[in-house]
Amino acid sequence: MKSVFRVAAATIALALFAAPAMAAEKVHWKLAMSWSSTLTPFVNAPNSVAKMVEEMSGGNFTIRVEGAEKHKAPLGVLDMTKGGQYEMGHSASYYWKGKDISTVFYCTVPFGMNADEQYGWFYHGGGMELMAKTYDKFGVMNFPGGNTGVQMGGWFQKEINSLEDLKGLKMRIPGMAGEVFAKLGVNVTNIPPGELYTSLDRGTIDALEWVGPAMDIKMGFHKIAPYYYTGWHEPATELQFLVNKKAYDKLPAEYKTMLVTAMKAATADMFIDNFAGSAEAWSQMQTEFPNIKVKTFPKEVLKVMKKASDELMNEYAASDPVFKEVMDSQLAYAKKARAWTNISEYNYIQTLQELAE
Ligand code: CA
Repeated sequence: MKSVFRVAAATIALALFAAPAMAAEKVHWKLAMSWSSTLTPFVNAPNSVAKMVEEMSGGNFTIRVEGAEKHKAPLGVLDMTKGGQYEMGHSASYYWKGKDISTVFYCTVPFGMNADEQYGWFYHGGGMELMAKTYDKFGVMNFPGGNTGVQMGGWFQKEINSLEDLKGLKMRIPGMAGEVFAKLGVNVTNIPPGELYTSLDRGTIDALEWVGPAMDIKMGFHKIAPYYYTGWHEPATELQFLVNKKAYDKLPAEYKTMLVTAMKAATADMFIDNFAGSAEAWSQMQTEFPNIKVKTFPKEVLKVMKKASDELMNEYAASDPVFKEVMDSQLAYAKKARAWTNISEYNYIQTLQELAE
């Protein structure tokens, strides 16, 4: 993580230093987000890219950021970037699993790497190259676009004590995790963000997952469901910047550097914003709603989830060689990265906890 910031800061300094020599070509782009314009901290990343390139280019390269309330196609962002109606998009790669199942790896997968490890894979473990390979057929380039870290497992009306408690449970949970839960008998649905609160409040669903405290607090789920489960399903949800390849190729070299540098800096910033936002929101929730019960799924339930997840991934790998290539790349990198995480970050936290006991 630290190296991401350092590289971003160094390249930004370089780009700024080079500013006086740049071309004065006027370029005006549009960016479509999968979110409404008010959904912080997700929207911070594209807004900050727009601000940075405008400043770095002395106002010559601008990007107009449009929310889903304007273009009305939150799940059409890849198509709109591909078609050139928008030169850029900001979204989440796992939304495109119906177009290409390998896209899930550039967002997050159940029981996958955490954000530090996954950034290592993107920038130093072949992730960027594999991502380019997956997205090439769309005529679109894909870049990391901000990370939520480990997401919470969701808000539940009832405690989950056994696999039986999951059977027939109606839950909103998207992506690969939804497929895993469906295997365990959960009645999985996907509901637009705007309808989540009423669906849970009225009992249309029994449980839902959204993101984590920073974003959940604004939705108010803590007022209507007592159990807040810890995560397993989205350990490092990476958002994405999509860039139309033809539009990118036409950019002057300086603008390309500005754009790529700004995207990397904004990605690191969103990760920080979300971490700080969640720490703040969780502190507030604990004070104002002391009855929120944080739970972790029982070990026997998690074991079955893990087994179902492995089976599902292997089924996709058997029928899709690119999926297998990306999966193997992530598994190999995760093994190496986790060995380091275990004796560094994890060991540090664990040691402090033991000292406090
Ligand atoms: Ca989520």
